[in-house]
Amino acid sequence: KTKTRFAPSPTGHLHIGGARTAIFNWLYSRKNKGYFYLRIEDTDKERSSEEMVQSIIDGLKWLGIDWDDEIYFQSHHINEHISACYELVKRGYAYFCYCTEEELEAKRKEAEENRVPYKYDRKCLYLSEQEKLKYEREGRSRTIRFKVPEGETVFWDVVHGEIRFKNSEIDDFIILRSDNTPVYNMAVVVDDHNMEITHVIRGDDHISNTPKQILIYQALGWDIPVFAHVPLILGPDKKRLSKRHGATAVIEYRDKGFLPDAMFNYLCLLGWSPGDNREIMSLNELIEAFDITKIQRKSAIFDQAKLEWMNSEYIRKKENIELLKFVKPFVERYGYKFDDETYLLKVISLMKDRVKTIEDFITFGRYFFEDPSNYDSEGIEKYWKFNTDELLIEFTERLTKIDDFTASILERELRSFANEKGIKASELIHPIRLAITGMRVSPGLFDVMETLGKETTIRRIKTALE
Ligand code: GLU
Repeated sequence: KTKTRFAPSPTGHLHIGGARTAIFNWLYSRKNKGYFYLRIEDTDKERSSEEMVQSIIDGLKWLGIDWDDEIYFQSHHINEHISACYELVKRGYAYFCYCTEEELEAKRKEAEENRVPYKYDRKCLYLSEQEKLKYEREGRSRTIRFKVPEGETVFWDVVHGEIRFKNSEIDDFIILRSDNTPVYNMAVVVDDHNMEITHVIRGDDHISNTPKQILIYQALGWDIPVFAHVPLILGPDKKRLSKRHGATAVIEYRDKGFLPDAMFNYLCLLGWSPGDNREIMSLNELIEAFDITKIQRKSAIFDQAKLEWMNSEYIRKKENIELLKFVKPFVERYGYKFDDETYLLKVISLMKDRVKTIEDFITFGRYFFEDPSNYDSEGIEKYWKFNTDELLIEFTERLTKIDDFTASILERELRSFANEKGIKASELIHPIRLAITGMRVSPGLFDVMETLGKETTIRRIKTALE
């Protein structure tokens, strides 16, 4: 049975790259009717926090990623990691090292002076029993080092193909620190083994850790999972995606008004594609089409404009009543109270084809929620002609007499009024739009007037005339 996991360290929010890794693991296990686990790698107590654990959970849940069983906290399993280290010593695959930090530092310095890459010289591998005893009596602290064998470590990576490392280039790395804490490579192997993980799908930045992990698997006689290292995500400037490129935390996108399914869909396409031209795909289509062998080898570029496009497509095709669930909390967040859902639904239907994010409903439709506090200056210059005032005063008079304040009637009234006065309808439409929205662009003016209602429309035109 396929078992995958997402193993974030709770040292920061769930970022774009992490979310994409989680999604690939999730899709793969869902596709194969297997299991997907969440493992929180919280052994670095200094840098981990409860708050970030929660934030990662929030981000995953928002994206609709669920996991099987309870969350696996790495810190609850430290004893298992430690005993595996001792097991390796027992089997002769690891040894105690008594070198002090100062001694090691001196060796590093020496290597640097001789311009050779530093590698632990295995002094402690060759200690006699007496020497060991002496160090133990002195109460010297000790670490456990893995004894890297001769030869090569080769593995098949689903994304990159065959990857080879010369063991001579791998240092006898520490697996248990002197303070009795296991290192990342040790903890990961033990946890993946205990969780019976079959496929490790993770970031490219872990490729160099993989030979060390494989050596540990081999020494313990454990099955080695399949590895798929997913290329990094870069910004448009081809540099590693970072804060400089804008928001990197998934929940920031939630807060900016991106829809979770649009975000999910977009993240799937960062470094993977179904192999045809499909881009907008439902969850079921994505699960159906997902194939780890189609993960691209080259880095993916995070394209904000494309994400916005995709989000607007998702907004457009959603039912208004569904969008209401997203729009309402935004409207409230901006301090507008709206219990009248029918009104919000009208706003949604007028605006949904014109926005890229849920936040845009407010950015470009603030006038639906409050009177304009200023008017577009270019609009004033262009549309507020010297003769506008009189015509507007007269037309507003007519508006007060309309009982059935609907778009079609308003349009008929305005056109016949323009006809009477021998002007073009647009000579009224533009200034009225400016007066009631403060903007030069909006959905169809008559629809906006109908939605705002008679009282508001007339009040705003009068205010603009003052
Ligand atoms: N905690 C590691 C990370 O955040 C996980 C690496 C792995 O998936 O093995 O990068």
